[in-house]
Amino acid sequence: MYNVTLIKGDGIGPSIMEVAVKIINAASTKINWEEAEAGMDAYNKYGTALPDETLASIEKNRIAFKGPLTTPVGKGFRSINVALRQRYDLYANVRPAKTWKGAQTRYDNVDIVIVRENTEGLYVGLEHYLTKEKDIAESLAVVTRKGSERIVEYAFNYAKENRRKKVTVCHKANILKYTSGLFLDVAREVAARYPEIEFDEKIIDASCMHLVMNPEQFDVIVTTNMFGDILSDLTAGLVGGLGLIPGANIGDSAALFEAVHGSAPDITGKNIANPTAVIMAGVMMLNHLGETVAATKIQRAVEKIIDEGQFVTPDLNPNSKTGTIEMGEAIIAAMQ
Ligand code: ATP
Repeated sequence: MYNVTLIKGDGIGPSIMEVAVKIINAASTKINWEEAEAGMDAYNKYGTALPDETLASIEKNRIAFKGPLTTPVGKGFRSINVALRQRYDLYANVRPAKTWKGAQTRYDNVDIVIVRENTEGLYVGLEHYLTKEKDIAESLAVVTRKGSERIVEYAFNYAKENRRKKVTVCHKANILKYTSGLFLDVAREVAARYPEIEFDEKIIDASCMHLVMNPEQFDVIVTTNMFGDILSDLTAGLVGGLGLIPGANIGDSAALFEAVHGSAPDITGKNIANPTAVIMAGVMMLNHLGETVAATKIQRAVEKIIDEGQFVTPDLNPNSKTGTIEMGEAIIAAMQ
């Protein structure tokens, strides 16, 4: 049995996570869920968005399956997602975006994995005002050789283990000569240790243009924290939207699996949220645990349902009357 901390999260979180948990339970009897709270709802109830019980559960289980958590914009508590990544040193954020036959998009053949550095860069939280009037603000980015090396190593190892051919580092070393420059230097050094994998480097703004014009040229992308955050929403858009993209946050001694999207307050309570991203995060978790048979079973069923296009949520088929719950039921039926 694997003990997994389950955080259902805010907004659409509880509804999509319930569907995902049902599907995982139908495919594997080896997961023992330990439910814990975090996010805006926890904050309103307990005055903290990250209660001690939740931290104790993750500390003990070292594997968490998490729904989206709302982060207040511009004020209020800091992102719990960022806090968890930093606390458990979950340095590798892996976000795959692959074309689904059943999701209509501008491209037919996208298969990109973003490997985002998850603990450094501009998201370390070193921000403050420089004046009493709060009219000048400053933010510091931190990039270390150690942090850069382990994430680029992770990307190349991922490429090797998953039979990928190419790793592209996306950077802004022409302007950010120290922070992005260090990351690029280290990437070049690591790349030299993997001669069997093609290495490419692209400036981040040009990367965005190339991703939109010719996404098929990309395979694995490795980049710093904020660029990875932005690029992964872009790649989500290339394959059918945020409702489809899972994310794994991996460290040396803990791992947390979640959707790339947020709590989507605009569609909360309507039974229209697409559960695919969290279901595929569950697939990544099962693969991480070595439960590959269960993972493949779920993946095939999800592919079948999306390819058929009938029992999918309205973001994938605007004429569909299928809701979150019904899509989950169709996936379970397809697994039989
Ligand atoms: P948060 O503040 O938690 O980041 P948000 O609404 O600002 O929430 P997202 O939740 O990432 O950011 O949502 C961006 C857009 O994508 C929203 O219009 C939302 O409805 C849509 N969206 C996100 N997740 C899904 C999903 N699972 N299914 C359908 N649409 C989704």
